[in-house]
Formats: sequence, C-alpha cells, structure tokens
Amino acid sequence: MNSLLIAAQAAIRRELFCRVAGRICTGAEIAFAVAATLVLRSSAIAADPATSILLRPDAVFDGQELHHGWVVLVQGDRIQKVGLPTEVNPPNDARVVDLPNDTLTPGLIEGHAHLFLHPYNETSWNDQVTNESIAFRTARASAHAQQTLLAGFTTVRDLGTEGAGYGDVGLKKAIDQGIVPGPRMIVVTRAIVATGSYGPKLSTDLDLPQGAQEASGVDEIVRAAREQIGKGADWVKLYVDYRWGAGEPSRPTFSQDEIAAAVKAAHDAGRPVAAHATTAEGMRRAALAGVDTIEHGDDGTAEVFKLMKERGVAFCPTVAAGDAIEQYRGWKKGSAPEPLRIQQKHASMKAARASGVNFAMGGDVGVFAHGDNAREMELLVNEYGFTPLEVLRQATNGNAAIFHLADRGAIRGGQLADLVAFEGDPTKDVAALKKVRFVMKGGVTFRSP
Ligand SMILES: [Zn+2]
Repeated sequence: MNSLLIAAQAAIRRELFCRVAGRICTGAEIAFAVAATLVLRSSAIAADPATSILLRPDAVFDGQELHHGWVVLVQGDRIQKVGLPTEVNPPNDARVVDLPNDTLTPGLIEGHAHLFLHPYNETSWNDQVTNESIAFRTARASAHAQQTLLAGFTTVRDLGTEGAGYGDVGLKKAIDQGIVPGPRMIVVTRAIVATGSYGPKLSTDLDLPQGAQEASGVDEIVRAAREQIGKGADWVKLYVDYRWGAGEPSRPTFSQDEIAAAVKAAHDAGRPVAAHATTAEGMRRAALAGVDTIEHGDDGTAEVFKLMKERGVAFCPTVAAGDAIEQYRGWKKGSAPEPLRIQQKHASMKAARASGVNFAMGGDVGVFAHGDNAREMELLVNEYGFTPLEVLRQATNGNAAIFHLADRGAIRGGQLADLVAFEGDPTKDVAALKKVRFVMKGGVTFRSP
C-alpha cells in the first residue's frame, strides 16, 4: 500500500509540474494522476510532512472573526501560519490553491450524529435496529462518513450506534488508518439506557437486542460505562429519560444516584458525559449529576436552563431532528400550522437563549440525511433567531471547546489543518454552508474546486 501511495503522490506532483511548466501532460500522465488522486482521496494517507500548501481564499473565518485578504500556509498535517500575504512568507515550492470567491473556515464539528442510522422516512428506527444486520449498517455508516466529510464536517461526535454494537469503534479506526474517507470521530459506542425503557419492543415473548445497553442500579450502570470505555468509548452517553411505551410522554428513567455514579465513573476515566434528556426533571438530574452536555431539551424550562448555565453544562438542542420527524409524520411545513411539538421547541429555545446557557451545534443527523448536517445551522438562523456568525462559531470554536478538542476549531498556527471553503460568506449568509468548495483534513485534500 505504501509504495502505491508514494507512486500516487509522485504522479500528482508530475501532473502539477506539467501544469506549472506549461507543458501539456500526456494522456497516460493525466490518467495516472486522476487515478492517483482517487487513491489518495479514498485512502486519506497521512499528509506528507515536506509538502507546503498555500491557501488563498477571499476571506478567512478563524473560528471567531472574518479576515479579508488573509492566506493560510499548511505544512504537513498542521496549519503553519495565517495572516496577510506579506506576513506569511511561504516557501518557493509551496503548492498554491486559489479560492478567490470563497471563505475559508475551520473544518466544521458536528455535535450530534448517528452514522449508523439513516433517515426514518426511508426505514423506521425500529426496522433499522431489528431488521438490518450490523454488516449492512456498517457499510452504510462508511458511506455516511464520506458524505459528512465532503459536506465540510471534519469532526463528528457520534452519539450511539443504536443497536450496531461497537461498530463506531471499528469505523473510527478505519477512518484514522485511511482505509475509508471520513471525519475524525468521537464515539460513545452502545450508549446506556434504563432496563425496559428503550426499544425495539415487539411481542412481550421476545427479548430483542436493544438499541442501547440496558442497566439498572448503581453497580450495573457503572459496569456498563466501564465496559464501553474499555471497548473504546471517548464519551459516555446516558438516556436519562424516555417514553416507557408508545404514545406516552417521556419520563425520567435513571435515578439521581444512578446518573451521578455513571458520571463519576466516566469522569474518573477522563470521559465526558452526554445526556439525552427532553423532560425538565431529566435535565435537572443530569445537570446536578455533572454531565457535560444535554441533548434535545425539548421541555426545558427557564429554571433548568439556568441550572445548566450555573453548572457549566452545554446544551445541544437538535432542532433539525424534531423538524424532520414532524414532517415524516405528515406536517406540511410552510402551508400547515406548526405542530404542538414545534411550538413547544420554540418556547424552550427562547428560555434557553435567555438563560445564557452555552450552545453546542448538533442536529441529530441520521434522523435526516448525512451530508445535510448544515440543516441544523440553517434552522437555527432562519427559525430560531441566531445569526449566521453565531452558529458558525458554535460549529467550530464553540464545539471544539465543549468537546475538549484543543487542536481544532480555529485557524491559527499549530492547529490541525482541517479546513473548509464555502462559496460566498457563511458568516453573513447561512445558505453558503451548502456551497462547499474545498475540504481538507489533516493536510490531505478531499474536495477541491
Ligand atoms: Zn441522537
């Protein structure tokens, strides 16, 4: 494999040399260079430490602010220098990538995805978990990973395989080894639910494999957290509330003591905790137990968001998931009035914003299509009153801080060369996030104009 990749790199350099020298490449050279580019794109080898790449966009959004006229020098897998062309001094042999109409941003960070799920209007969650084999789901997940990366999301926090076991650990390894293209993954493996609370539920005579690992009592929940960490979980995910039966509202599942014990076991192991919670009481227990993020929060109150703010718990609202599910249930968005669930989401989001709680950006992708991750950001801007700049900060610098990723989320010297370019200016126009022109991860280009 290595010799093939070295040959591939050499072929691309030859092809570039042809272009730079003004000589017309032979057909064979072009064919080999194209094939070689595909090999490199699909294998995503480590960046050549000797290669310098100078990116010249119209503007650079550094994770906080927009800077016109800045250029970015990449060396190997890292950003080396950023600033005005006179300050950067690229080496003479640096490869130049011109992006004259584009804004360069840090690679976006998806805060809530399920690469092992696909949209519920294609196949219901129940049928995916019950009828689709892990091999089939892993093959799908690998395609989803590529779609996510090419959409400009170079890191994904994947919040549970939903019945596909430890598949996320394997997929992450395959991506990191360059076997398949995809984003850097933060994984939680199976996630943890209270015994009997989750699904799938069919006949009472059947003990079906569940969409997450069941636990009851302090000992079991601690054991489950440690088992998952031992198998490769970077975070621990708890479902602290859920509906016990179809058609009934969510209710708290784990007790305060159970949640606290799981959080302590996770934190002792250096793993943060994400809590699925939609009820105010579930959110309250999770915040008191010291979880790091709360997902969904649909019925969150001013009081509970205030508690989250005080405790430093970030809020990942996943507005796109509820919006998609209501449409799958028949809501004709735009022509029909908002369903109650959407009206309630607007009310809880208003309370969340007023509280000053820290927002993570994550859409619960998988409920809707992978690669359409920007849908959450569009909804936050178009329907929930955030500015494009706010959501772009959330998806870069903000998520990096919440997820303890000090090496990404900003464009500055020393950061990973995870870089994306969008046509236009996504700090002013959220629709620009759908116009992805360039994607680089760790100094390797996966998409170019
Ligand atoms: Zn989810």
